[in-house]
Amino acid sequence: MDKNRVWGQKSPEPPGEEARPQPRLRAVNRCQMVLRPTDVEQLIEAHHPARAIWEIVGQQNLDGFLEAIEAVEGVAGRSAWDPRLLISVWIYAYTTGVSSAREIFRLCRYHPAYQWLTGLKEINHHTLSDFRVAHQQALNELFVQILGVLSYEGLITLERVMHDGTKVKAWAAGKSFRRKETLEKHLEAARQQVEEMGDPRSEEVSERVAKAQERAGREKQERLEAALEELQQLQAEARSKKQKPPRVSATDPEARVMKQPDGGFAPSYNVQISSDAKADMIVGIGVCQAANDTAELVPAVKRMEANLGEAPQQVVVDGGFINQGTIGAMEAQGIDLIGPLPDHTNQTVAALEKRGVAPEFFPQAFRYEAERNCYVCPAGRDLAFEGQEKSEGSARYRYRAKLADCQGCLSKGQCCPKSQRRSLVRTEEPPEVRRHREKMASEAAREIYKQRSQIAEFPNAWIKEKFGLRRFRLRGLFKVTLEAMWAAIAYNLAQWIRLCWKPKKALGAALS
Ligand code: SF4
Repeated sequence: MDKNRVWGQKSPEPPGEEARPQPRLRAVNRCQMVLRPTDVEQLIEAHHPARAIWEIVGQQNLDGFLEAIEAVEGVAGRSAWDPRLLISVWIYAYTTGVSSAREIFRLCRYHPAYQWLTGLKEINHHTLSDFRVAHQQALNELFVQILGVLSYEGLITLERVMHDGTKVKAWAAGKSFRRKETLEKHLEAARQQVEEMGDPRSEEVSERVAKAQERAGREKQERLEAALEELQQLQAEARSKKQKPPRVSATDPEARVMKQPDGGFAPSYNVQISSDAKADMIVGIGVCQAANDTAELVPAVKRMEANLGEAPQQVVVDGGFINQGTIGAMEAQGIDLIGPLPDHTNQTVAALEKRGVAPEFFPQAFRYEAERNCYVCPAGRDLAFEGQEKSEGSARYRYRAKLADCQGCLSKGQCCPKSQRRSLVRTEEPPEVRRHREKMASEAAREIYKQRSQIAEFPNAWIKEKFGLRRFRLRGLFKVTLEAMWAAIAYNLAQWIRLCWKPKKALGAALS
């Protein structure tokens, strides 16, 4: 190679050979207008899920969504968007992991599925946002109507329902939790900010920016006022339970700090999902602020009854839902409840170890004699009945050894090293709890319970992983409940498409 040649410079032709003409390349012209015809129907294939969603939504009665529309035939003004379209767009968006109105607005410009749904129209993100939270009753009715379709298809039987709770993070940071004094300070600052916005001497901005700033300031003030209101309620509860003064999130006052599956804590809501075991369809969904599931099964059964007109025959839950109240309520309704009673063995062992009791002197080493109503200790001494203790649900009876027996006993250092004499508590469970314990000891109940995690956690995982709903986009219990309902409808339709839907043959032939 010629070392003196500059890069890009043509190398001289070898002597005797004809020069090769320059290659001819296609030029890119970006300064031209192009009119391209679009066949909207051809934008997506015949079996695209957007078609299935459009089809099934169109088959439902959407009168509830039409009631609020002010534009009517024969009167001047802009026509409203068809609720069938807005519902289909939102459901399709959730099934593809999109839960932002602004993102949908952007997608409507270029994404074939959104372009097909909207017929190449763009829907303003405010319209989409407002629609998502404006029709609670109608949305519930739509959920119920779709459950009717799924029942008709044989995908819901209510013979066995798996119920579970899952924590979904709130749209608020852990650092947004404030005490009363700080909230009041922030509220004062927000009020001042809102007042200044109305001041004509303030900095000049465009009308659109001014409106956005005014709305943001007003919403911040409203959130802080709501936070102070929420705080007052929590303070009253904390006083009655003699707990520490509470804090409330200034961003989402109704969110609560809850333990996450990874062991950390975050502002969250507790989403309760009931799924029919036949095909994993969601038959009931609710959102609560409780950090645990203790009191959530009874409301969940009520939701299922309201949605489907009857209660499930059997409900399978984890130990977090099982307590005397729940067992009694399910028994009274004739519902077969499957779920393990919480095991307190570890707590009992920890308490005994803390008291320095050796394993050979744990309660099981003491023999109960029902005829004499007393215990006999490993050293052959009696622990006489002393009295009954107050306890929620179960009856607790206390027994105690004689002081002289323990003081003269060689085993005292292992049996009751930190007390003068040994005592024991006998717990007597109510009949319904005893019956439940006996049922759960059976092989059949254990086999059913083994299926729980796989079926119950399927919709949880789908909603979190595929729909990306690990964190709510909206704030406040009312709005996050609606968001959970949208996700439940989207989930059920995604399963219906997967299991049942077939595109119309004529359409398939036309598009092929
Ligand atoms: S310490 Fe008391 S209760 Fe324990 S083994 Fe001895 S006599 Fe029995």
